[in-house]
Amino acid sequence: MKTNRIITSIAFICFSYFAFAQKAPKNVIFMIGDGMGIAQIYSGMVANGNKLALEQCTYSGFSKTYSASNFTTDSGAGGTALACGVKTKNGMIGMNPDSVAVSSILEQAEKNKLSTGIVVACAVTHATPASFIAHQVNRNMYEEIAADYLKTNIDVFIGGGKKYFEDRADGKDLTQDLIAKNYKVAYTLADVKATKTGKLAGLLYDDQNPGMPERGDMLPESTVAAIDILKNNPKGFFLMIEGSQIDWACHDNNAKQAVLEMQDFDKTIGKVLEFAKKDGNTLVIITADHETGGMTILNGKMGSDDMNVVYTTKNHSGVPVPVFAYGPGAENFTGFMENTSFKQKLEKLLKFKK
Ligand code: MG
Ligand code: ZN
Repeated sequence: MKTNRIITSIAFICFSYFAFAQKAPKNVIFMIGDGMGIAQIYSGMVANGNKLALEQCTYSGFSKTYSASNFTTDSGAGGTALACGVKTKNGMIGMNPDSVAVSSILEQAEKNKLSTGIVVACAVTHATPASFIAHQVNRNMYEEIAADYLKTNIDVFIGGGKKYFEDRADGKDLTQDLIAKNYKVAYTLADVKATKTGKLAGLLYDDQNPGMPERGDMLPESTVAAIDILKNNPKGFFLMIEGSQIDWACHDNNAKQAVLEMQDFDKTIGKVLEFAKKDGNTLVIITADHETGGMTILNGKMGSDDMNVVYTTKNHSGVPVPVFAYGPGAENFTGFMENTSFKQKLEKLLKFKK
């Protein structure tokens, strides 16, 4: 009798602990759809027959995107706010408005012994990925941004931009420096997928990645490959993934192309959520740096990409963008948020030391 009562008490204490203690994430996957507002998301959903992988996210909110210098941000200031937690001037990368470098959540993750990664559908030196790893006064300083990769110990980065490493004004071949730092340098998707451990630099295109459908499954497959490598670290990992070209399609006011890029990003989201569900210790955040095109949809039909889309600009708009979250800690990402709030929230959730 007595033993039974003790067992019952222990079971109750254990149940209470697991039911009520807030679980902290071990891994964070931060996904950015460049230029991805509600209309971009919904265009993909409509074309897909009223369905996106994104819908599996259990929490949602909005991010306010204005920068320190402009009502309407660019991707440099937008990326810097998300990565470094500071509003800065349009065009700047990883710096505050006074041109002082500010560390990114990726750099903090590295400092706290997590593995880190970047997977993007553009050159790895472009504004959004650069915001997580580089510190430059101007987003167009691609060669300087490439050199900034060497100042970190990022474990995996995959995208385009080979020429900024190998065909440079200063004559340096940064690929040799990467190899000296024990990176495997991969030039093809097959080579990326064959890499299971160690450090990987995937430079898959000379400059920018092609758009969809020419790019194929580069983004979802590179994402899976990156997770496979990063998950080897028992301390966890931070991975940033960008659907880079939703923005470019909307600069062109090309709704059919925006749908293709949105579907590619959502396919990638599906792969990430599949891993996160199985893993149980991974927080996934999906948002945008800003909306592009002032896009809206006046009419359409479920299952068709033939919709009446109106764009109000060839540039970005100033409206807030949606935020979606899944996994332990996701409940912290609801309501209206500043785009600068992500870094601090993540540092707290991951219990980082400064
Ligand atoms: Mg971008
Ligand atoms: Zn843009």
